Amino acid sequence: MKQTINKERYKKQLLVPEFSEQKQQKLQQSTVVIIGGGGLGSNSANLLARTGVGTIKIIDDDIIELSNLHRTSLFTEDDIGKTKSMILEEKLSMINSEITIKGINTKADKNNIEELVHKTDIILDGTDNIKTRLLINDASVKNNIPWVYSGVAGTIGMTMGIIPGKTPCIRCISQNISSSSNSDQGTFSILPSIVASIQCMETIKILLGEKPSGLIIYDIWKQCFEQMNIQKNPACSCCGKHSFEFLEE
Ligand SMILES: [Zn+2]
Repeated sequence: MKQTINKERYKKQLLVPEFSEQKQQKLQQSTVVIIGGGGLGSNSANLLARTGVGTIKIIDDDIIELSNLHRTSLFTEDDIGKTKSMILEEKLSMINSEITIKGINTKADKNNIEELVHKTDIILDGTDNIKTRLLINDASVKNNIPWVYSGVAGTIGMTMGIIPGKTPCIRCISQNISSSSNSDQGTFSILPSIVASIQCMETIKILLGEKPSGLIIYDIWKQCFEQMNIQKNPACSCCGKHSFEFLEE
């Protein structure tokens, strides 16, 4: 991995007063793991690669289907039938050859997730089911790795940055959530790219040592944002009692 940043590539974001060369350098030295390479994951991988995050790993074992094209980034009709993680690696490497992109053609599960996120600075949720999110949450809290939850359903998207020991975890707000619930309300095309943008901004802020923004809810049809400050639940079985049942079940 190259440590020197290319000032020409990033010159427009280096002009932003909140940002700096030092912060660009910090992103260059960071490693992120994106679990899921679909609507959320492909858009987030695209944005983080262009922003200059130094190492991006994308975990997915799905193949690209025609019905993915309306909400994903980078995939074309010629890619149908090919593996999402491999196509993302190939295309993102052409977009930014100064960073490391690795597509990992596997499905994250309780047996491999801790190895997949080992030595990463942050995990991004690009999944479409609560079971994998609860698994990510357990792996995050157990191994003290921040993660950014994101979900889309119908016209509504949500994002929450989670730092173990500092912020509430996903089970603080979903103690009674069923691990099998996965309702399909469809996804409006534009929603994942907006939610991925919010997710990536939370990711960058956490990588730069800033506080996450709480639970952000966006309704694309009403064009309405809501930001909620969630409190930690001291009785939370995950971050409170350190019971990691989704890694063990
Ligand atoms: Zn918790």
